[in-house]
Amino acid sequence: MPIHLLSEEVAARIAAGEVVERPASVVKELVENSLDAGATRVEVETRGGGRDLIRVRDNGVGIPAAEVEMAFRRHATSKLETAIDLETIATLGFRGEALASIASVSRITCLTRHTTEDTGTRLRIEGGEVVAHATVGRPSGAELLIEDLFYNVPARRKFLQTERTERNHIDAFLTRYAIAYPHIAFSLVHDGREILATSGNGNAQEALLNVYGMDLGTSLLEIPCGDDTHAAVDDIQVCGFVGPTSVHRANRGYITLFINGRWVQDLRLSYAIIQAYHTLLPVKRYPIAFVSVTLPAEDVDVNVHPAKTEVRFRDGDAVFRAVQRTVRATVIDEAPVASAWEPPTPTSTEDNASADGKPSAMTTRARLAALTPSARQITLPQAETHTEAAPRNGASLSPSSIPGTPTTSSDNVLRPETAQSASSATLPPLRVIGQAATMFIIAEGPEGIYLIDQHAAHERVLYERLITVWMQGQLAVQPLLKPESVTLPVTEAAYLEELLPALHTLGMEVESFGPGTFLVRSLPALLANLSPGDLLTDIATSDEESPIHTALEEMIVRRICKRAAVKAGQVLSREEMERLVRDLERTTNPRTCPHGRPTIVQIGVEQLIRQFGRS
Ligand code: ADP
Ligand code: MG
Repeated sequence: MPIHLLSEEVAARIAAGEVVERPASVVKELVENSLDAGATRVEVETRGGGRDLIRVRDNGVGIPAAEVEMAFRRHATSKLETAIDLETIATLGFRGEALASIASVSRITCLTRHTTEDTGTRLRIEGGEVVAHATVGRPSGAELLIEDLFYNVPARRKFLQTERTERNHIDAFLTRYAIAYPHIAFSLVHDGREILATSGNGNAQEALLNVYGMDLGTSLLEIPCGDDTHAAVDDIQVCGFVGPTSVHRANRGYITLFINGRWVQDLRLSYAIIQAYHTLLPVKRYPIAFVSVTLPAEDVDVNVHPAKTEVRFRDGDAVFRAVQRTVRATVIDEAPVASAWEPPTPTSTEDNASADGKPSAMTTRARLAALTPSARQITLPQAETHTEAAPRNGASLSPSSIPGTPTTSSDNVLRPETAQSASSATLPPLRVIGQAATMFIIAEGPEGIYLIDQHAAHERVLYERLITVWMQGQLAVQPLLKPESVTLPVTEAAYLEELLPALHTLGMEVESFGPGTFLVRSLPALLANLSPGDLLTDIATSDEESPIHTALEEMIVRRICKRAAVKAGQVLSREEMERLVRDLERTTNPRTCPHGRPTIVQIGVEQLIRQFGRS
């Protein structure tokens, strides 16, 4: 094929691919246009997850009649004139690409009237071709209606995910903007149902509650804009909301960044926020943060990618430092971590915390250790009467005798050559010795010492129990004395909504009760002591990737079990430990928790003998 210029149509289609990836990108471009047009009210409506219809209506300045067709041409914009302007962009749009791109892959109708004109315009474009242009009467502002997105790009349409996923992307986008722009009244309606409505009264806190729900919303700490204590460094101002150290999530998806009013994704700045929580959150847990950075327009380049969700900084390190320091200061200020770990006995030998009270990885661990009654747990109360399977030397155990215990009993009990349990799925009979680090149960068995993760083991036990009674249709349901209302953040609420039928089959009667709010009427009797709020939050927080529908109940049961199981840090009585180990032995899959992690780790007698140099 000789080299030739691509036709306008093909070029437009290629360009459109970069701007319009999915329905949420259409919503993003249109809402950004509304904001640039000075709107104070922006209404978004979708059908079919945005495939069938997306409508964005605003009360901004509108487009002059003479310019409406022009607005849909590629590289047509009212926001930029010279190349120099590119260095100080103050609007969200500037490339003049969005409307042209959207128009080339959908059927689009634009209704608009400029504030200075008496009549408005109705323009319809299908696949980039103008098919109707009329003069109409309408209020000032603009309304863009996008139908049949990607109708002429079957490949793209095929790649779209479920309606729910596409809706989630839209929700995630709009809720962020609702928080970042509290002066603007946003509303969002999917398939006739209102998902979000903010008042636009300028109160960010209120928008926050709307988006995150009452419980989470009120727990967030504010980084006030223009606060002296967190003074802007190098013209870089950081404000927003961050979670206290007690609130964390399994992934980074709850970190939101705005740069000069624009939502961006920036790995480095996300990392700055994660860094700010260093040693303050459990490992592999991530903070919730909504951080907005303002800096001079000439210090940030927004012209990096057609979708405008990435930026470059003139001085990236300075921005990193500003974000990290401000967030850290807020978190430490408002939630003094050190006091939470105050050791009960400052003279404890294990406690080497420095006197200045500054938390560090080392002192926190030492304080934790001082609080952990693990040594006490290992001691068996002499007077205790227990019906134990192997009572031979149980009564003679004391902390000083522990190191010898496994070897002495190995003389009597252990026959490694006859034991086959290591390879089989079932567990050998185990004798509980004690608890360590309030996290593990130490037990002894035919092949050495076994450490059982109390949480993982309990998860396994609960999981099999629940699944069994559920599959046999014998699930006992316990109505709550008083129905409990639970409010969830928008995206979680939308997800939970879809799980309601599945929850019902699992004995959880939950009903929708206004936007984001649910009423819990019953729980499975097995779990009647759990907090419905915690349970619903866990279930609706999707850290398991899009479960296929048939496995939905199992996925829910896994999450329920995770919440219901004893936690690390919980002191277990001897009876509780023994019951748990017996229950674990009886499961069909005792060696892994429902999420696939090991429940039990074994240290072989031979390994111990070798390590003690006895061989
Ligand atoms: P850009 O936003 O980069 O300028 P777009 O293709 O998104 O490019 O929009 C083209 C032009 O159409 C804008 O520059 C603006 O003048 C006009 N426009 C688009 N949407 C609106 C709106 N909701 N209200 C007023 N004018 C709009
Ligand atoms: Mg635009």
